[in-house]
Parts: sequence; structure tokens; C-alpha cells
Amino acid sequence: MNVFETLESEVRSYCRGWPTVFTKAVGSHLHDENGRDYLDFFAGAGTLNYGHNHPVLKRALIDYLESDGVTHALDMHTAAKRTLLETLHRVVLRPRGLEYKVQFPGPTGANAVESALKLARKVTGRETILSFTNAFHGMTLGALAVTGNSMKRRSAGVPLQHSMPMPYDDYLDGQTPDFLWLNAILEDSGSGLDAPAAIIVETVQGEGGVNVARAEWLRELAEVCKRHEILLIVDDVQMGCGRTGPFFSFETAGITPDIVVLSKSLSGYGLPFALTLFRPELDVWEPGEHNGTFRGHNPAFVTATKALEHFWSDDAFSEQTVAKGERLGAALDKLVADNADIGAYRRGRGMVWGFGADDPGLAGKVCAAAFDRGLLLETSGPLSEVAKVLPPLTATDDELDAGMEIMADSLRAARSA
Ligand code: PMP
Repeated sequence: MNVFETLESEVRSYCRGWPTVFTKAVGSHLHDENGRDYLDFFAGAGTLNYGHNHPVLKRALIDYLESDGVTHALDMHTAAKRTLLETLHRVVLRPRGLEYKVQFPGPTGANAVESALKLARKVTGRETILSFTNAFHGMTLGALAVTGNSMKRRSAGVPLQHSMPMPYDDYLDGQTPDFLWLNAILEDSGSGLDAPAAIIVETVQGEGGVNVARAEWLRELAEVCKRHEILLIVDDVQMGCGRTGPFFSFETAGITPDIVVLSKSLSGYGLPFALTLFRPELDVWEPGEHNGTFRGHNPAFVTATKALEHFWSDDAFSEQTVAKGERLGAALDKLVADNADIGAYRRGRGMVWGFGADDPGLAGKVCAAAFDRGLLLETSGPLSEVAKVLPPLTATDDELDAGMEIMADSLRAARSA
């Protein structure tokens, strides 16, 4: 027995699928204490879009620490925070014509989601938040109430209220016109639905099975929200910071959400950091009304600033992500064609893809075989039925090809097991 098994709670999860002890990580690779190398096609669940320990970000972090820069500062003004805000405005918000105010809500995605839900409720004076089937927004009670997964919801131990799920894009297999149900219950005063404060949506559901919303579906959703004066919250925790190509995943649809939540790859270095962005008119917070100790994690501000400058000062990185995503998509197309006999399918956008087949258990077997072959690949979806392909955006073409070859080999092994 090792200390992880004797001391660490049964709640541990990823380590069960990847039973080794990691010691080092560089770029798209992790290394374990036995000297084995693993290609990382999970990237910290979308936290390491720029890879592990990116040298430019690492340099900025080391320089900051060595200069005795402030590490913890609640929400006090610091030079690092000022530079971050100025850079965010110059590099991300202004070029996109986005006039968002910026809230530091605490360092996790769930913190940001909670702040967004609370703000929407405060602004509108309404309670209900509409969410979508197979959505994932975090583990705290408010975020769980708008999350689909039944196992995660059960863990709450109390009723999850003031929310209601709607069918996500293609949930009904194209048999029903988009938003038929949503429009009907919003427009019928006898439907039993209290006027909602907000609708929260992921443009691609990362945890829910890599379900991709079409741009026209997102545009129609934004229209419905506008028509009924419902705030639109885009949870870009996993799909933001370039995962689908542009900095914000909703840019391709041409919509402007009222509230946006970001975390995961925001610091660029795996340092905890989240932001909630919203239209200035929505800034009705009282000072300190949504508080938190770790809202001033300045080392994360430093790496985030450097990441924005380094990757987002022009369109090159975004264009490169789209090209790499097409490369992955083509490799998955081949996998699907070669495995048509078992109902193989793939879906995705940019650098997030999912692969599955008729047998929902296959994806788990593929991921286990991939680990044996030195590739970190994780499942997604309510039945863990989808193998999720989520490499760092900085992965080279050779690394992408190598990972896809291991995946194909793992699939062959899983099929014949
Ligand atoms: N929203 C989305 C879309 C996510 O993917 C996640 C994490 N997987 C969260 C919220 C919650 O983030 P955290 O685990 O940092 O609380």
C-alpha cells in the first residue's frame, strides 16, 4: 500500500486511471518516477493550453518570485494586477469591442460560475437559472444545480434548486426544431416556469461528452435571451483561452454574452485563477458582497499577463490552433472510417475532440490501453462513453501525429481485448 491509498481520500479520481507517480512535465510531456514519458492529451482538463512549464511563462514567474513580488494580496491593488488588467484590456477586450467589467471571484471555475449566477440573480431579482442537458459548471451547490451529471448532483446531499435543464443542441437528434420547448415555456404564462434570471451555456460541452453547439444555435439562443430579457452566461472555463481557436469560444458565433466566466488556462501555467466578465450595467455588487481569500494570487496574474502578451498579441496562435485542430479532426475521421463496423463517431471543434462508438464501455478501454502505451487520454460524457482528445495547443504536428497513432493502436487493442 502506498501513501496515496492509505492517506488520501477515496474521492481521488484521475490518479486511478493513470496509476503512476509523476515527477516532471515539459511542453506536451509528463514524466514519472520510473523514467517513463507520457504524451499528455488531456492538458489538465484544458488548464495547460500552452503546455507544461512553458519557458516564457516560467521565466516571468521566476523573475517575479525572485524580485520578492507580492504573492498574496486579497484584492489589494498591486503592480502585477494593474499590468494584468491593462494587458487584458489592450490584448483581449478592446480589439474585440468588449466593454466588460472584470471581477476576481476566487481562483476556480466553480468560484467564477457561482459569482455569475449570484450576479444574474441580483441584477434581475429572479431566481431561476436555465441550463442545458449534459452541462458541467462545477462542484459547489449553485454550480451543481446547473450541472447535468447525476452522480455529481447526488453528491450535493441537498435538493439542487432554482434551475431547470433545457435540451442542448442536437440533444433530440434533430427531430425537434431548435428551442421549441424553451420558446414555448417562456411564452406560455401557464407553463409553470418562473421568469429566469439567466441561461448558462458552454459552447462545447467538455465534460458532458464533447458536444458542440452550432454557431446558428448559439445565435438563436442569444436572440431568445434578448427577447425575454434573460441574461446569457457563457461558461468559457474549459473552452476559453483559445481551445477552439479564438480567445473566447463564442467569437465564431458572433454573439456577445452578458456574462463570461474564465478559469483553467487563464494563468497559462496551471496556477489557479479565474475571472468573471460582465457588461458594466450589470455591476451592481456592493463592495465585498462576493468575497474570497484567494482572489489576489499575483503569481497567476504575472503568468496570465505574459501568456496574453506572448500568444494573443496577434492572430497567429489562433490560426495555428485551427490548423492543428483540423489535423486532429482528419486523424479522427480516419479512425472513424476504419471503425465504421462498431459505429465509431467523432465530434469536436478547434483542439477539442471526442471519439466514441456504439459500445459506451469502449472509450474507457481505449484510455486504459493508451496509458499503457504512454498517452494520457481521458473519457468524458455521462457514461464515460467518449474518449476526449485535448492536447496542449502548443503540441507540435509530430506530437499530434504520435498521439493519434497511439490512440489508433489503443483502439485496436481495446477492440480485440
Ligand atoms: N465550468 C466548466 C465548463 C468546466 O469544464 C469546469 C471544470 N471542468 C468548471 C466549470 C469548474 O471548474 P473548477 O473545477 O476549477 O471549479
